[in-house]
Amino acid sequence: MNSRIGIDDARELWLHASDEELKRLAQDIRARYHEPDRATYMVMRIINYTNVCVAQCDYCAFYVLPNQDGGYVLSREDVFAKIDELVEFGGDLVAFNGGFNPRLPLDYYCDLFASVRERYGDRVEFYALTIAEFVFLSDRAKLSYADAAARLRDAGVHWVTGGGSEILTEDFRKRHAKWKYTVRDYFEAQRAIVESGMKTTATMVIGFDETLDERLEHLQRTRDFQDETGGLFSFLCWTYKPYGTAFGGREISPPEYWRHIALSRIFLDNVKHVRTSVLTQNEDAFRALDYGADDFDLPIEDEVTQKAGARIDLDLDGLLSIPRRLGYTVEYRRAERPAALTA
Ligand code: SF4
Repeated sequence: MNSRIGIDDARELWLHASDEELKRLAQDIRARYHEPDRATYMVMRIINYTNVCVAQCDYCAFYVLPNQDGGYVLSREDVFAKIDELVEFGGDLVAFNGGFNPRLPLDYYCDLFASVRERYGDRVEFYALTIAEFVFLSDRAKLSYADAAARLRDAGVHWVTGGGSEILTEDFRKRHAKWKYTVRDYFEAQRAIVESGMKTTATMVIGFDETLDERLEHLQRTRDFQDETGGLFSFLCWTYKPYGTAFGGREISPPEYWRHIALSRIFLDNVKHVRTSVLTQNEDAFRALDYGADDFDLPIEDEVTQKAGARIDLDLDGLLSIPRRLGYTVEYRRAERPAALTA
């Protein structure tokens, strides 16, 4: 397949293509970027620096409101201890992810990230925030996205990832997360991150009540953004965990996840890496390598998804034996420093 597929083709493939056909088409696109029998991975930890949040997304089991019992903000020492433990595990990537905490000013983030960069240098890379948090803290600071991005970059930040995107349609946002951000804000903020020289990624979460058309709209917007900016390093898709959330619901099946990974790989022909989610799919995540994924994380902590039912397996050798048994050579991948920020 040489030409790019459109929304109608994608809908047709989802509804009528066999698993084997989807796999073959996805592997064709994968082969443009990667050797067929090779996959890469990282060992990482998500540090949830605060659980206080005013966004009140109905699919979230993690947050508490300001003034409610159980709210916390991690100290710098707590953060360092978590990073040290990750390093002992052999990992070198941290992703900071927390709630929309109105008591934390932009200076809190800049000080925290500068202290992490100062202590660990380039030995440990970190995803500073998600685009969702970045939108919130820019608005709170009354700064343009460009100015807020410059502040973070000057504090030593290299990456602000595309997390917190779930499904990028305005209807979905209104149904489930009306105080989080608008789709327009999301992409404007992400564009500012790219233009500042930092790196970013695309993400997606499926398994709520989103329609097929909403999934396809999300993919279309992602591909358009990549056409315009070239700033997306990777696309990671994971699945909604419904336990303990206000919205509730049921988990989707692994085969539905694998098919969606294949469709994403085919549609996002301009994104180099398609990543499968061990955090939410556990052992079943590795089968997605056959459906076009090429890369994955082995996370040792993420309170957000664990609170909603995710299970973390710390037997990393045991996990890595699964893709090997499927016929893949797996190699460790270090997070890259953006070329624009090379010292
Ligand atoms: S998903 Fe994130 S933004 Fe939404 S309520 Fe939970 S912590 Fe807050």
